[in-house]
Amino acid sequence: MKLLIVEDNPQLSDDLDNFLTENGFIVEVASTLQKAKEKVDLYSYDLILLDIGLPDGNGLELLNAVKDNSETGILIVTAKNALEDKIKGLELGADDYITKPFHKAELNARIRSILRRKKFAGSNILQVDEVKVNLSSLQVFVNDNPIILTKKEFDLLVYFLYNKDRVLTKESIAEHLWGDNIDQSDNFDFLYNHIKNLRKKIVNAGGKSYIQSVYGMGYKFSIH
Ligand code: CA
Repeated sequence: MKLLIVEDNPQLSDDLDNFLTENGFIVEVASTLQKAKEKVDLYSYDLILLDIGLPDGNGLELLNAVKDNSETGILIVTAKNALEDKIKGLELGADDYITKPFHKAELNARIRSILRRKKFAGSNILQVDEVKVNLSSLQVFVNDNPIILTKKEFDLLVYFLYNKDRVLTKESIAEHLWGDNIDQSDNFDFLYNHIKNLRKKIVNAGGKSYIQSVYGMGYKFSIH
């Protein structure tokens, strides 16, 4: 899951970046409204953590710039007593708000709750055919047999399941797994290895060879 932190306080931004990365998210940061607009124009995010008070404008302005905000979760961060910001943010399509100062555990819970609502219609279980992922315990089962995946394989599997039957380009998979801070052209070999290993683990546990190469285009997860 890919997150964008829009926050102008460098210490808080670093702190949140580290915390959310440790919690398994791919994290990118923007310190101004302008930088955030450039990012949402180029990339898509599963969730944006949006500070309202930014040096070059009101964070709420970003809500109009988010390409498809039915797919992107928005959690706004407001100052204490900023009731107007909260109401306006929710009216403009934000999913929830959190008030500074907040506990990181609460932030994590709010983020996960938005993602569950947005991505998985409220469910913690993502299942396609005989492959089942529990998004809260992070366990994966094939035919009810648990399998052990690395962090990247897990992220890859969730991305595939969420995009079942859609062809995913190598570029979009690499961007999803590593964020925009990689030189993607150097990483397709790594990507290929992660895909090969994930496919092997599923097949060894009695599953089908769901992950198919689509020549010249990328990969797709399909039950056919
Ligand atoms: Ca601020």
